[in-house]
Amino acid sequence: MTERVMRNSSYLNAQSTTGTRTRVRDVSPTSGMCPICIRECPFLCEIGLSAFRGREVLYPVPSEFGKSTSGSLKDYGLDWSHFNIIARLRGAEGIEPDSDVALFPNVQVESKLGGISLSLPIVNGAFGSTDVAKNNWDGLAAGSALSGVILVIGENVCGVDPNSVITNGKVTKSPDLEYRVKKYREFWDGKHGGVAVQTNVEDQRLGVDVYAISKLEVDVLERKWGQGAKAIGGEIRVRSLERALELKRRGYIVLPDPEDKAVQEAFKAGVFSSFERHSRVGMPKERDFVEDIEWLREQGAKHVALKTGAYGPEDVAWTMKVASEAKVDYITFDGAGGGTGMSPVPMMNEMSTPTVYLEVQVLKCAQILKKKRRYVPDISMAGGFINETQIFKSIAMSNFGSGPFVKAITMARAPLTAVMKSSYFIELAKSGKLPKDFADEYTSDPEKFFACLPEVRRKAGKDVPYPAVGLYTYLTDRIGTGLKQLMAGCRKWKLELLSRDDLLSLTTRAEEVTGIPTPDHAAEKIMENILG
Ligand code: SF4
Repeated sequence: MTERVMRNSSYLNAQSTTGTRTRVRDVSPTSGMCPICIRECPFLCEIGLSAFRGREVLYPVPSEFGKSTSGSLKDYGLDWSHFNIIARLRGAEGIEPDSDVALFPNVQVESKLGGISLSLPIVNGAFGSTDVAKNNWDGLAAGSALSGVILVIGENVCGVDPNSVITNGKVTKSPDLEYRVKKYREFWDGKHGGVAVQTNVEDQRLGVDVYAISKLEVDVLERKWGQGAKAIGGEIRVRSLERALELKRRGYIVLPDPEDKAVQEAFKAGVFSSFERHSRVGMPKERDFVEDIEWLREQGAKHVALKTGAYGPEDVAWTMKVASEAKVDYITFDGAGGGTGMSPVPMMNEMSTPTVYLEVQVLKCAQILKKKRRYVPDISMAGGFINETQIFKSIAMSNFGSGPFVKAITMARAPLTAVMKSSYFIELAKSGKLPKDFADEYTSDPEKFFACLPEVRRKAGKDVPYPAVGLYTYLTDRIGTGLKQLMAGCRKWKLELLSRDDLLSLTTRAEEVTGIPTPDHAAEKIMENILG
């Protein structure tokens, strides 16, 4: 507890996200400042670095843009670790209760989200116009396709693509979007998962939806209302004046203004090295949204989804209401604690509803809609998920007795990390610079790095980029197997059987928020029922 309080206070003036640190460790719990702040301090805390770089310090270290992802470092006091999964001794649901049949490899972890079959209850995305997505695309696309999960291409890809052809304000060609879609399909079985294209305000103005549906035959379209890591539009860094000018001409907000002569001079003199490109926030209205979804279906979209951030409870309820009205196939709710290619650090830490709290709100709405016999879209939760235990808990929590509302979990930072780690270690192997421990354990030959390499090649029927093998190994071999083990441990062999009865709250806070009892409270009733 002491450690948690320290972490929550000390990050105010020193964070790895912004590359800042304090001179001493015993900082003020209130301000995060050193108790004695001295003139001759060589360290750059938040205040110190801000004196030099101002708004740059609102963001993750700018020089890492395009090579990194970021997330919140704040402890919200309630997360998936505050629940445990109940192990069971007797019976087997979803399979013959025979010790020779009820084995963990036989657990079924397939799911269906918005009518789309998934080999694993996972969606990867969204990966938009940030460089880190583009630079790692082949691994993300091939790895997601081979794993049988949905891959969402994020916002602004066409608008930022330097080779896009824009005619009368509408995109008629985007080699980048085309490449991204085709790379996924190159490794896709055509049955599990699919490639989705996300659209924001600028994308809709550019006609990205119509282009994706009509020219690229994309059949999963996603409208974007926000993300967990921030409540403003998408952002990227632009390192050239020409690109900054071009993006401003294409209708984006570029800061500082690249058309301002003083700004141009400062950029050329090296006072700052990148521009911020921002996109707009949407202003959704109920009637417009319902009509927009109908229009998307008329254009040929077979599955229509909505991605939203972790807004206040009134917005969660309104979103569920209009999505039900519009019969959206699925909604992704992205909680605070999740990640980004670029978001303001204070916003990531301090704003929006953390994932567990958000899921509880979403589930409340889903139950109300269901009780009123209204349509309930499938739900995908996002916001800081990296493993099978969190996936299990989120899906289980959403089943009140008639099947889980949460059909899949959306992850972005974690799959990207699997791809980046794989490609970086391949690069290190080529240059003979692998960490010694890794080379001692797994050799220096990339052909021996990935436990699933033979399986992936057999499945693809051809060579597969190593980073994609890494992503497949992480998703299918690690998370998939881990999920099967946990499910077999609570004697459930089908994903839709996971339920709230499989969980225990470990704190009174977790119990109060979710209604899932702590072990002592659960035991009171059960003991009486069995022995009373
Ligand atoms: S400038 Fe002051 S508050 Fe910041 S690290 Fe140095 S001593 Fe601490």
